[in-house]
Amino acid sequence: MSVALLSSLPFSSPIHFPSSKFKSFRPPNATPSQISPLNPPPSPSQSPDKTGVIVIGAGLAGLAAATHLQAKNIPFLLLEASDAVGGRVRTDFVDGFTLDRGFQIFITAYPEARKLLDYDALDLQRFYSGAKVFFGGRFHTVADPRRHFSDSLQSLANPIGSLIDKFLIALTIIRVLSKFDFDILTADEVETIELLRSIGYSDSILDRFFRPFFGGIFFDRELETTSRLFDFVFKCLALGDNTLPRNGIAAIPEQLAAKLNPSSIVLNSRVISIDHESEEGVVVNLQSRESLRSDLGVILAIEEFEAASILTGKTEAKLPARSTICLYFSVDEEKVPVKEPVLLLNGSGRGIVNNMFFASNVAPSYAPAGKALVSVSLIGVYSGVREEELVERVVKELSDWFGEAAVAWWKYLRMYRVEFAQPNQRPPTNLLKEARVRVKGGGLYVCGDYVTHATFDGALLSGRRAVEALLKDRAAVGL
Ligand SMILES: Cc1cc2nc3c(=O)[nH]c(=O)nc-3n(C[C@H](O)[C@H](O)[C@H](O)COP(=O)(O)OP(=O)(O)OC[C@H]3O[C@@H](n4cnc5c(N)ncnc54)[C@H](O)[C@@H]3O)c2cc1C
Repeated sequence: MSVALLSSLPFSSPIHFPSSKFKSFRPPNATPSQISPLNPPPSPSQSPDKTGVIVIGAGLAGLAAATHLQAKNIPFLLLEASDAVGGRVRTDFVDGFTLDRGFQIFITAYPEARKLLDYDALDLQRFYSGAKVFFGGRFHTVADPRRHFSDSLQSLANPIGSLIDKFLIALTIIRVLSKFDFDILTADEVETIELLRSIGYSDSILDRFFRPFFGGIFFDRELETTSRLFDFVFKCLALGDNTLPRNGIAAIPEQLAAKLNPSSIVLNSRVISIDHESEEGVVVNLQSRESLRSDLGVILAIEEFEAASILTGKTEAKLPARSTICLYFSVDEEKVPVKEPVLLLNGSGRGIVNNMFFASNVAPSYAPAGKALVSVSLIGVYSGVREEELVERVVKELSDWFGEAAVAWWKYLRMYRVEFAQPNQRPPTNLLKEARVRVKGGGLYVCGDYVTHATFDGALLSGRRAVEALLKDRAAVGL
């Protein structure tokens, strides 16, 4: 069934806007007569109205779902509990500094992102393709030979790995590039550490490079995360650049939101329960004690634990979530000890810092004129450890990296403790889970990074898959 046909058909019950408060948030294609309160319920004589899809959660998954619905001319309402779109991808602007809520990198080769985002408008600022690893009291360069050939030649003899390790990296690149994404995401899986050991990597490169680098991506220094995700991210890294949008990581969800009809997005609207047992459509109950109903479909685009709580009433996750802490410091630009736009990894096996970088070396817009921004990341949430203690430990540790005199100039700005950064993706995983929860009486669908994989791209992909499932179901019932 064509999409145009779907959006033009009358549906048996509308999205119901229970009070005048919601009347300004009607779906873009709705007219006042198409919006009516659920309480009191519509009279049986009420004529069928066109309605829209309710999308719950305006993180990347929900924004992607809304983008696909809008592209098909299907009216929708996007409900978000917090005060802005973006979910885990948010940025604060403090005294001229751009502070992402946790260190996040956008990889340009993410396949779903390439289809949805305007990279030029994001003005992506590139990292050096490689890293500097702190080991044995000094930094050693690990470089991508295809982009920094002479650096990579010089790094052949460094202690971050053997010559064989460096050859194995080339083989791993060839292996992942020869596979389709679908095959990678559905391949047999083991923990990443097991995969790397089976390839033959030495303990030196595992401890000095893979643990801090991929541990920093998965917030999992043990590298228990599924080999499927390792292969997918490794492939994207091989094909693309690591970047930051000029205006902060939140520019990504904001770009998606800016293309949506603003009256379809409702902020500060928390959903507390969903009634999907009724034949008359799915009813969405808000914290404000109001209810909305749609028989065209509801897409739940919220975090795994929130979705579990709403759908099953269960609050505890099977595996602990992945957590991280990001600390920001400012320093005068001329006192920055490293001038390159490079990621710095802790390969020493000691201390609490996993990785760090001088953010304004990558994106000068992240700091005001004359200043630089330092971003330091830890893995885990360090529950019970006070903020001041963490700052003290980080400053002491980085004084060993750069010298006490250099770090003495740093001024502490802010810390983000992100308890739920990513769902745990230890095997067994299913990185292409079913989006459909229920078809009858108006469908219910889920999306979010836990439905696919815990990356920007996984979230975007899951939003598309939820809309595809919804369209398929509507077509199957002849609407
Ligand atoms: C610190 C950090 C670093 C990361 N680094 C990277 C990286 O470098 N590269 C990468 O690819 N990925 C990274 N990720 C992962 C990536 O950000 C996430 O996988 C992705 O953003 C998840 O998007 P989502 O839409 O699934 O969920 P979320 O972003 O969590 O969105 C869910 C939304 O639902 C809303 N919501 C929840 N409950 C309700 C409710 N009851 N009613 C209404 N609304 C509700 C929430 O407020 C939120 O806005 C990182 C994540 C974090 C936190």
